[in-house]
Amino acid sequence: MSRFVYADNAATTSVAPEVFEAMKPYFTEHFGNPSGHYSIGYTTKDAITEARAKVAAAIGANADEIYFTGGGSEADNWALKGVVERKKGGHIITTTIEHHALLRSGEWLAKNNVDVTFLPVDEYGKVSLEELEKAIREDTILVSVMMANNEIATIQPVAEIGALCKEKGILFHTDAVQAAGHIPIDVKAMNIDLLSMAAHKFRGPKGVGALYMRKGLKLPAFIHGGGQEKGIRGGTENVPGIVGMGVALEMAVKNMPENNDRLTKMRDRLIKGITETVPYSYLTGHPTDRLPGTASFIFECIEGESILLWLDMVGICASTGSACDSDSLDPSHVLLGIGLPAERAHGSLRLSLGEINTEEDVDYLLEQIPPIIQRLRNMSPLWENDKPKEVNN
Ligand SMILES: *Cc1c(COP(=O)(O)O)cnc(C)c1O
Repeated sequence: MSRFVYADNAATTSVAPEVFEAMKPYFTEHFGNPSGHYSIGYTTKDAITEARAKVAAAIGANADEIYFTGGGSEADNWALKGVVERKKGGHIITTTIEHHALLRSGEWLAKNNVDVTFLPVDEYGKVSLEELEKAIREDTILVSVMMANNEIATIQPVAEIGALCKEKGILFHTDAVQAAGHIPIDVKAMNIDLLSMAAHKFRGPKGVGALYMRKGLKLPAFIHGGGQEKGIRGGTENVPGIVGMGVALEMAVKNMPENNDRLTKMRDRLIKGITETVPYSYLTGHPTDRLPGTASFIFECIEGESILLWLDMVGICASTGSACDSDSLDPSHVLLGIGLPAERAHGSLRLSLGEINTEEDVDYLLEQIPPIIQRLRNMSPLWENDKPKEVNN
């Protein structure tokens, strides 16, 4: 019975042992301030240089285009607010299904007299290139579309969006926090000007991330302070975190083909097993253009929160909506964004597998989830009252 299955890798991942080992000396013997003019300072400065090169190589960038941040949210905030400051206002286009770090930044800008268009997406969560092109105006300065969605896992046509933005002379930012280390990224080939990443989504440590800024596009400072990160992101560097991020991303890219092959098979077994055994259940997000490890479902007539409680009792970690949303009872903006009515959006479950998961984990998920859903439905007045209506559509 007491098995433990962590199926919430889209929320965060465990630090890989190799990453932890690489970080350790930077808490102890290599503690020097990278700005220090002595050997222990040069050691940490060199470690940052090496990590920067690794992060850059992983996305086809140059090392001097990588700026370390305190995570994905900071990178998203910096990209949006920085472009507005640099261009002194203008029109921004983003989507309705972005992560809150991006959405809330956009909403804040909108309150501060910036025109922001929140582009709708289709039922699979995809942005339409035609709709995007129609939304572009004379004064559009930035398009920000996430590379892969954190709730429904849909991958956007980023290269096509990049090409369109380049043709129109508009900057293109992508929140690649779910994508980096999980699917191939080439910022040059994809015409990406700005890209956000976070180490803890690819087995690096929490609280460290990066913003890639294309050469020639140096945004204004977001954290004013010392001369760190070429003077635009002040504050003594999180040296162990940065070292960990470099090692983790290098490993993730190296292991990507093998990992993704395995993850895709496990994910598809999960999708098939759940949708075929649980009545009134279906997959959300794009059926094929999706992250290799993530499967998200709707179970009609029950609440995602109660599924999580029951799963926790049998040692399964999963999520409903996004982790940041789990304290509120509002249905997920992503699920509403793909056109689901609120009552259906409430019954969502996201299972996100990662490198640490095994086929036995999938067996356990498939063994535990269907009876839990059935038990919850038996307890639910919605199931008795609403089932007949649901059957017809
Ligand atoms: C996790 C996540 C973020 C936020 O990153 P933090 O490092 O937690 O601040 C932003 N965007 C997406 C798509 C994410 O999945």
